[in-house]
Amino acid sequence: MEKTTQLYEGKAKKVFATEDDNLVIVSYKDDATAFDGLKKGTITGKGVVNNRMSNYLMAQLEKEGVPTHFVEEINDREAIVKKVSIVPLEVIIRNISAGSFAKRFGVEEGIVFAEPTIEFSYKNDDLHDPLMNAYHAIALGVATREEIEEIKAMAFKINEFLKAFFLNIGVKLVDFKLEFGKTADGTIVLADEISPDTCRFWDAETNEKLDKDRFRRDLGDVTKGYDEMMKRIFG
Ligand code: ADP
Ligand code: UDP
Repeated sequence: MEKTTQLYEGKAKKVFATEDDNLVIVSYKDDATAFDGLKKGTITGKGVVNNRMSNYLMAQLEKEGVPTHFVEEINDREAIVKKVSIVPLEVIIRNISAGSFAKRFGVEEGIVFAEPTIEFSYKNDDLHDPLMNAYHAIALGVATREEIEEIKAMAFKINEFLKAFFLNIGVKLVDFKLEFGKTADGTIVLADEISPDTCRFWDAETNEKLDKDRFRRDLGDVTKGYDEMMKRIFG
């Protein structure tokens, strides 16, 4: 399968068309951004980690009965995925308080929730991804009630799998962002990526941050989270 034309270049990935109308190739870059694109940088090797980790986790999720866009890893930085129309919602699951949740509600980071929370942001760069509830999404035609219920059920199922998977390698899954898309036949599948760019990972013993917060917050050794997660997953 060969790349044909570039369809899109985002902040962290490029998307290419292929000879097959239903498949695209995603190519992971080392570019990193934070704070709505205000902070820019490079994290050497990040693209490789995100590609390999995301592909591995999606393949595992498929085995658990969660449909995903993943088809095949073609090299260290690239994968073939089903082309989807992205549901313009960032679906955020939280197990432990951190980031914008801690800020919004004036609480410290690290509160372990009795049960996971879910929230949606409207995926719209011009509007800076505003928080959106299910009623807003239905009102604006972003998704139907049934689609939102399906997305919620999938997101919580994905959380249960990932929480257990990461705990097994000594990592707490604090929070993460998912994106879903619709394939040509209308099936809703997990899309985009699952990586240290889109998840908060804390070492289970020390709470050391092993994710993009090292970059966002200038914690030093920005590649450490990526390299350490890679080591723990793939040895
Ligand atoms: P951003 O658009 O936020 O800068 P990226 O650099 O990660 O993000 O770009 C990848 C883009 O590809 C995102 O807009 C994402 O929604 C989209 N995408 C992810 N998976 C698929 C897919 N299977 N089919 C089509 N588009 C996808
Ligand atoms: N997240 C993401 N993309 C975004 C916003 C958030 O991948 O555009 C992830 C982020 O990595 C974290 C989770 O979603 O794991 C929750 O992020 P939060 O709302 O706390 O925002 P942040 O503190 O990153 O601004």
